[in-house]
Amino acid sequence: MAFLLHDARGLERGSRDVAAPEQRRASRRLWRVDLLQAAAVATVAVAVALFLADGGAMAIGDPGGALTALGIVAGLVATDLVLVMLVLAARVPLIERAVGQDAAMGLHRRLGKPVLVLLLAHTVLLVAGYAVADGSGLIGEVVSLWNTPDIPLAVLGLGLFVAIVVTSLVAVRRRFRYEVWHGIHLLVYGAVLAALPHQFSLGGLFAEGTWQRWYWLLLTITAFAAVVVYRFGMPAYRTLRHRLVVEAVEPVEPAGDGVVSIRLRGDDLERLGATGGQFFVWRFLTRGQWWQAHPYSLSAVPRGGALRITVRALGRGSAGLASIRPGTRVALEGPYGIFSEASRSRSRLVLVAAGIGVTPVRSLLESARFRPGEATVLLRTRSADEGWLLQEMGELCRARGATLITIPGARGAGWLSADAERQGLSLVEFAPAVLDSDVYVCGPLGWSEAVVAEARAAGLRPEQIHHERFDW
Ligand SMILES: Cc1cc2nc3c(=O)[nH]c(=O)nc-3n(C[C@H](O)[C@H](O)[C@H](O)COP(=O)(O)OP(=O)(O)OC[C@H]3O[C@@H](n4cnc5c(N)ncnc54)[C@H](O)[C@@H]3O)c2cc1C
Repeated sequence: MAFLLHDARGLERGSRDVAAPEQRRASRRLWRVDLLQAAAVATVAVAVALFLADGGAMAIGDPGGALTALGIVAGLVATDLVLVMLVLAARVPLIERAVGQDAAMGLHRRLGKPVLVLLLAHTVLLVAGYAVADGSGLIGEVVSLWNTPDIPLAVLGLGLFVAIVVTSLVAVRRRFRYEVWHGIHLLVYGAVLAALPHQFSLGGLFAEGTWQRWYWLLLTITAFAAVVVYRFGMPAYRTLRHRLVVEAVEPVEPAGDGVVSIRLRGDDLERLGATGGQFFVWRFLTRGQWWQAHPYSLSAVPRGGALRITVRALGRGSAGLASIRPGTRVALEGPYGIFSEASRSRSRLVLVAAGIGVTPVRSLLESARFRPGEATVLLRTRSADEGWLLQEMGELCRARGATLITIPGARGAGWLSADAERQGLSLVEFAPAVLDSDVYVCGPLGWSEAVVAEARAAGLRPEQIHHERFDW
């Protein structure tokens, strides 16, 4: 048999109570997710309700008024959603702890296209509405609007937003270096600020004394405050406070694969509150590296004033880290992500990793709460005794009473090796208690998706499946 069962102690015990602490914690977290979603929907509903209550409903008496009102509603919903997108990307701790950065950024991405459609609808409907109301042609209306104060600035904002959404489409995004794409993406702050004046100056919509004025001021200030504090302020504060430096760079076996572990030291690192499975965004302040920041997961639990990451050389940024000098200062953002104890919903654990995806799985295994026999680790490796951090994983599993199974060999059609597929093996056969476990998956995107699909098909509930993506 080609699968190495490194340690199966047969210590399985009966399942704990239904109301295990993991399940109570999971339902509290899911409650917070529901509340956050409800709050986001409520901001849109209140925006539309205030517009209708402040006289918007009365204007819908004729075709011109109806088109204009629809156009305004489209603009209000779009603006509200842009502010929601800013907050989702702001790394607000409340959102971070409830859904993690991965899911928050996933929603942020999904909102881009609908917002663009709403903004375009806003523009077209308003031009049409004003043209019908004035009895003028569309061209004449466009010229007259262009000569209205604050409109050229709003058009600039729309143009920036179009550029941001188009460069974020997967096919287009892949053509850019991450840093170039990210630079274009940051123009969103300019787009929002450029669009803001016309909201307050045009049509008396947010005239002084109206509820709408206060409401939009509150929303805009809150969103920008979240960005300033959490996106920029906190990382700067933490970088200065913890004074992180590289302590050592060590090659990882098998040698020659271009994988290194980097140990970092700093002040009061336990105050960061980082735990196994989480990641930081790191910026190594040295020549060739200071201008780029990359996310890397902790490959060991923070301990004794030290952090450790393990990096595979995939591109210019990661390849340069093998030659980083001890003593190099490091700026950091984080800790981020709930590929950690924070998302546990069951007392049992199945950790599945391939390639460099072993890093968060290694630190999660170190910190996770489970009793001997309650955890199974499945590692896709090149050969039975060859894989990054494999020896450490073996030692950790032995120390903690977890079962480690390596699945070596050439790729199959799904996530298993070709050999395992030929034998008709599956997730349930490798980890018989998987239906009553949390499954954490990390590895190349297509591979992880295959594991997640199999877990779903086996009947696991969404809150039992946790997946860390290493791409953007
Ligand atoms: C949450 C998370 C945790 C990660 N943990 C690890 C880890 O523990 N060990 C490890 O070796 N790798 C990890 N990665 C992947 C690592 O971030 C990329 O390999 C690295 O950023 C590549 O940068 P580069 O300049 O070397 O390569 P590039 O040639 O610039 O990029 C190679 C690929 O890396 C991705 N990438 C580049 N820059 C970023 C960025 N700033 N943010 C997100 N993705 C980017 C892109 O998908 C790109 O296709 C993680 C990624 C994420 C998102």
